[in-house]
Amino acid sequence: MKLFSISKAVHVPKFKVAEHFSEVIEVDAPKNMVYSLSQQHNMKCSPTVKRGDRVLVNQVIGVGENNSVVPVYSSVSGTVKQITTKTDLLGNKVDVVLVENDGLYEKQEREVFSYSTLSMDELREKVKALGLIETQNLSNRKRGMQLSFKDTAKNILINAQESGLYGQVDSYLYEKEKQDFLRGIDLLKSLYKDAQIVVLSTSDADSVIGFTELLKNSGVSLISKIPTQFYHDMNLAARDVFGDFAMKDTMVIDAFLLPAVARGLMDQRLTHYQLLLINGGAVKNPGIYKVMSGTTLDLVMEKAGVENPFRIVAGNILSGDAVFTTDSPINRGIREVLFLNENEVSIDEEMNCIKCGRCADVCPMGLQPYELNQLVIVRDFDEFFKKRGGMCVECGRCSYVCPSKRHLLQSFKTAKKVKR
Ligand code: SF4
Ligand code: SF4
Repeated sequence: MKLFSISKAVHVPKFKVAEHFSEVIEVDAPKNMVYSLSQQHNMKCSPTVKRGDRVLVNQVIGVGENNSVVPVYSSVSGTVKQITTKTDLLGNKVDVVLVENDGLYEKQEREVFSYSTLSMDELREKVKALGLIETQNLSNRKRGMQLSFKDTAKNILINAQESGLYGQVDSYLYEKEKQDFLRGIDLLKSLYKDAQIVVLSTSDADSVIGFTELLKNSGVSLISKIPTQFYHDMNLAARDVFGDFAMKDTMVIDAFLLPAVARGLMDQRLTHYQLLLINGGAVKNPGIYKVMSGTTLDLVMEKAGVENPFRIVAGNILSGDAVFTTDSPINRGIREVLFLNENEVSIDEEMNCIKCGRCADVCPMGLQPYELNQLVIVRDFDEFFKKRGGMCVECGRCSYVCPSKRHLLQSFKTAKKVKR
C-alpha cells in the first residue's frame, strides 16, 4: 500500500484554465470489488451479507444506521469474500465488503412502482433507496439525496456548477446524459407543478451553449452567473437566484444525480457507476472516467496512466482532501481526483500569520480565518464554534490567498471533525 502525505495542505501556486472533457473513458470492473459501508462521519451501514454469500447486481449489501444514510448495493454478481476494516482514501478506518466479481452480472429484479401514485414520504424513501449521495450543499455535506425532496417548493435550483480549476465534467450532462437529465426535469415538474425551475451552470462559454441548447424547449431557465460568485454554498446561491436566503420555499437538486434519480424513479433502474474527473500534471490521459462502485482508485490510476504523483487530492484543489492511500474504494460523492506533480503544488512551509487580513477579505461567510486557525492550534474548540467556525463552508479561499501558506481550511476541517 503506497501512502501519501496527509500532513500538509495543498496550496496551489497558480490558477490554470479549466479544460472541458466530453469523452468518457470506462474503467472495467475488476475481479476484486471493495465496497465501503461508510458514507461520512458517524454515518455508516451495517452489512446485510456474510462471507460466502452469493450476491447479485442490485442486491443491498449494507443498510444505513440512521435516516440520512443510504443503502450500499453490489454492482456486480459474485461471492462475498470477506467483511473487514480498511483505510479509505482519506485515511479513515471504514468497514468494507469484499466481493469476488464472477463477471456474469446477474441481476436481482427491482420492485416495480409508479412514482406518481406515491405520497411525498414514500417518494423520499424510494429516492433514498437509490443509494445516491450528494455533496453540493456544503452546509450539510454528503447527505442522502432523499433529503433534498421537500414536501412543497416554489423554487427549484438544479445545480450544475462545478468548481473545477482542473476541468469541467458538466458537458457529460448535456451530451451523454441529455435524455435522462431532461426526464429528471419532467419528473420535478410533475412533482412540483407550480415551481420555478432554474439550472445553475458554470459561466464558461461551452457550458452556457451546451445547457442553452439542452433546455431550449423545457420551460426551465438557465443562470450562469450569480452575484456571490460563490456557488458552492447553496443557501447563498438560492438567495441570489430566488431571494430566498432561508431556503423556505427553495430546494436544491444536484444536477449530476438528477439523471440517476430519473432512471431510478421512472424505470426502477439503479445507477452503479460514478463519474470522476481525473486530471493533474501526473496524469497521461486526463478526462472523465466512468467507474463502477466498488472499484479501487489504483485501477483508475492504471487506466489513466498516472505516474509518480507528488500529491493526490480528492475533490477540487481549493477545498479537497489529500488522499492517504490508493488501494481503497473511491468514496461516494467524490467527483474529482487530481494527481499533481511537484510544480503544481506550492511546497513552501507554513509561516507565521502576518495579520494581513486577506483570508478574512475573501471569506464568503464573513469569518476571521486567522483567528479561527489560532483557536484550532490551541485546541480551543468551544471558542472556535462560538466564533462561528462551524459556519465555514470549506471553500478553501482563505488557504488559497494566504501569503504565509497557513493550513487554514485543513485546520477548520479538523475542528469540525472533533466536534462531530
Ligand atoms: S474555507 Fe476559509 S474562506 Fe472558505 S468559508 Fe471557510 S474560513 Fe471562510
Ligand atoms: S491570510 Fe494568512 S497571513 Fe494573512 S491574516 Fe490570514 S492567516 Fe494571517
